[in-house]
Amino acid sequence: MIEAEGIVHRYPGFSLSVSRLAVEPGEVLAVVGPSGAGKSTLLRLLGGLEAPQRGRVHRRGPAVYLDQTPYLLERSVLENAAFGLRLKGWPAQEARRRALGWLERVGLSGFADRPARALSGGERVRLALARALAVEPAALLLDEPTANLDPANVARIEALIRAERAAGRAVVLVTHNLFQARRLADRAVFLLEGRVVEAGPAPGFFQRPADPRTRAFLSGEMVW
Ligand code: ADP
Repeated sequence: MIEAEGIVHRYPGFSLSVSRLAVEPGEVLAVVGPSGAGKSTLLRLLGGLEAPQRGRVHRRGPAVYLDQTPYLLERSVLENAAFGLRLKGWPAQEARRRALGWLERVGLSGFADRPARALSGGERVRLALARALAVEPAALLLDEPTANLDPANVARIEALIRAERAAGRAVVLVTHNLFQARRLADRAVFLLEGRVVEAGPAPGFFQRPADPRTRAFLSGEMVW
């Protein structure tokens, strides 16, 4: 669904270099690694928010990208949920009907007429997910979607991710939470200093990592 080939992207003092990375429909790919490894940069390149300085990213369908503090409009919850559909040209009434369906799926149906600014952190992420999913993207790129959220919201968002995978979407999940990566990932990638150290199917990646640096990171022994 998304394929990166030979990408190189540099910032002052940092370079990301990935020879090949792909995510397929119906698959959750977890990207793990220490802070500063280049996880968010990789996600932005996969999502087309930035173009790589070298190489190419091929997307076979529309992708949506969500960061951990999603931007919401100073409008009602329902208007936020319907926003992407309206942008795509859906008539107001149909956009509203679909958006209400998505609010129900993310557990926000009672919130439709409230101002979005009144939502808690977990509710904001769920609203941003509803807005993103309403346009039925082929791929979902999530940057730390559950950072700083309570366990109930974490569980809800993980359930949504599973449902999207079951619906055939390709999901790339950047997470610091290794337990979450184990719970959700079909495949995982360990990124360190802008390079892929190891990539492979879960649970092998988590239970029998081949590279000593992956082992050190997964066991919490890597100091950075
Ligand atoms: P991670 O998500 O793994 O924490 P990032 O992709 O955010 O890592 O950052 C990787 C490196 O690139 C860091 O050193 C960061 O400071 C740098 N970086 C990220 N975005 C930019 C940018 N827009 N301009 C300059 N440097 C950046």
